[in-house]
Amino acid sequence: MSVSAPAKLTLKDYKSDLHNDWCPGCGDFGILTGIQMAIQQMQIDPDKLAVFSGIGCSGKTPHYINAYGFHTLHGRVLTVATGGRLANTDLTVIALGGDGDGYGIGAGYFVGTGRRNVDFTYIVHNNNVYGLTKGQASPTLSKGKKTKSMPEQAIQDGINPVAMAVASGYTFIARAYALEPKYLASIIVKAVEHKGSALVDVLQTCPTYNDLYTKEWYEGADLPEKRSRLYKLEERGYDGKVSDPNDREEIVAKKAAAVARSYEDDPIPIGIYYQAELPTYEDAVMQRIPALGEKPLVEQDVFHRDVQPLLEAMR
Ligand code: SF4
Ligand code: MG
Repeated sequence: MSVSAPAKLTLKDYKSDLHNDWCPGCGDFGILTGIQMAIQQMQIDPDKLAVFSGIGCSGKTPHYINAYGFHTLHGRVLTVATGGRLANTDLTVIALGGDGDGYGIGAGYFVGTGRRNVDFTYIVHNNNVYGLTKGQASPTLSKGKKTKSMPEQAIQDGINPVAMAVASGYTFIARAYALEPKYLASIIVKAVEHKGSALVDVLQTCPTYNDLYTKEWYEGADLPEKRSRLYKLEERGYDGKVSDPNDREEIVAKKAAAVARSYEDDPIPIGIYYQAELPTYEDAVMQRIPALGEKPLVEQDVFHRDVQPLLEAMR
């Protein structure tokens, strides 16, 4: 008797049937498509995928993906995703949220997560505004900029997420563009395949509130030479991958190169800025708690464990 191969999952298998209420033309659609294309290319079983989100327009993304989803508190997505991943190391975990959610309200968690190097992917929908609350300036909007939703120019400097990720310890750092979902999908595939904390900062258009960084702006429609304001790092010979993770000098040099590129603003680099294969948080936890290496926590009988030795140890 021959056993037929399991049917290949199609893009449709990763879509939910919930109503989508993003504004027409929102860059979030491109990011959703990029995620679905990536997980379809990897043929990730929806039962083995958990997508976590914070609060904001982007926070609705898990509703539209056929997988486990968790829509959590503002700025707290990385803590909840960390818990999900450590409880069940069999899962592929994707966390996502907006720039206000992750780089503003969740900034402390953003730094703490980079230090741990938990094996998951964090996708940030970076549109320079708090879209869900009517377009206030987010932490990535530069000083002096004013969108149509703001009464005055921004009076604070914008932060640089790539440089912040380098300094915090993320071991895979990339940037992509929401309206190029095929390229975004290729970056997400590499981010998910990377073992460690991966940040994908996605430049996202918000046609409702951000009239500065529009599709036309990114595509350079206003420039006499009509050139894109984006370029792909790999097309200009840049390689952010650390070849020897034990070589501290190489790590420092690659980090410095990534930070230098992250300050280029015309054109803006997209692609992989930095990647290093370093021990993950899971590796460290399993060394300390060997039982976690045997099977995921969710499959263990944690309710009938003798905790007395632990309590004694903490005396
Ligand atoms: Fe998208 Fe902006 Fe509308 Fe939110 S407010 S759904 S980010 S276009
Ligand atoms: Mg935002």
